[in-house]
Amino acid sequence: MLNLLLRKLHMGRLTEQGINSQIAQIPSALPASFRQSLQIRHLACGSCNACDWEMTALGNSLYDHQHFGIDFVASPRHADLLMCTGPGATQLVNAAHETYEAMANPKWVMAVGDCAINGGVFKGAYASSGGMDRVLPVDFKVPGCPPSPDDLIKALLGIMGK
Ligand code: SF4
Repeated sequence: MLNLLLRKLHMGRLTEQGINSQIAQIPSALPASFRQSLQIRHLACGSCNACDWEMTALGNSLYDHQHFGIDFVASPRHADLLMCTGPGATQLVNAAHETYEAMANPKWVMAVGDCAINGGVFKGAYASSGGMDRVLPVDFKVPGCPPSPDDLIKALLGIMGK
């Protein structure tokens, strides 16, 4: 056990540090009442799933999003923020609109990853909308292919003013 502990201390953190300088520039934009608790609905809109897996990592013990009052909810009716991955696949556009409409006001949309921002590697593809801002009103963008969990948690804490 002691050896394991020493090895872990020596090894340090295995996950990647965030590299997106733009993340730090995200201003705090949410009203004060949303800064203690932020409920998120995740919407995969044609992603390759790598962005989604990085989002899943936010729940592990290293990032521990619940520690910050951030949680993922099963229904858009309970969500404040819609985190979208993927370029907005055309067959999912209606579902994206319905999801957004189901959210109560005030509500925000975050484009997660290069695909969601501008189509990324799917730009120009026949079944791609070319970015989520062509589908929904995007408020926040987190670049990367994929963005690391470090980038994502910084972005979320940034918009919460933490
Ligand atoms: S941004 Fe990169 S990792 Fe994310 S969905 Fe697009 S191709 Fe996949």
